[in-house]
Amino acid sequence: MRVMSWIQNHPHVLEEAYSRARAALVPFRRWLRRGGTVERLFIAGEKLTKGPIFDCRMCGQCILHSTGMTCPMTCPKTMRNGPCGGVRPDGTCEVKPEMACVWLQAWERSKRMPAFGDEILRLQPPVDRRLEGSSAWINEFTGDGARMPPGWGA
Ligand code: SF4
Repeated sequence: MRVMSWIQNHPHVLEEAYSRARAALVPFRRWLRRGGTVERLFIAGEKLTKGPIFDCRMCGQCILHSTGMTCPMTCPKTMRNGPCGGVRPDGTCEVKPEMACVWLQAWERSKRMPAFGDEILRLQPPVDRRLEGSSAWINEFTGDGARMPPGWGA
């Protein structure tokens, strides 16, 4: 547990790991397709790694690098843009007072990310529930993860 919170509170290490992992996958991008063995392996790998580190909910559209390496899907309102306005004065969640506001953590951690920290200012589209349970890495390379819903992004 202590190791996990150390990792989460060193987002610059995580953003470096993300950049390196992405660069390492680029040469293999033509094999990164949905619906086959490769995707099943990625799904297993993501559950195994992002599950314990980020409490990943397998939304299939990972925006960790835009949210201070803090998973927005752990917000009880599953907000992709936050905070919601109901943050308590002590920084805890209005829905679950026993937890810190995910978006306050995201904001604080993003300030410690030299490469992607400014991405927290981006307006995120609604999550595409059809991608739930799929591999976010595969979706990143196929472009499925970045596809905008109709009418969004004008
Ligand atoms: S944003 Fe989605 S893929 Fe990324 S850690 Fe959160 S639930 Fe998992």
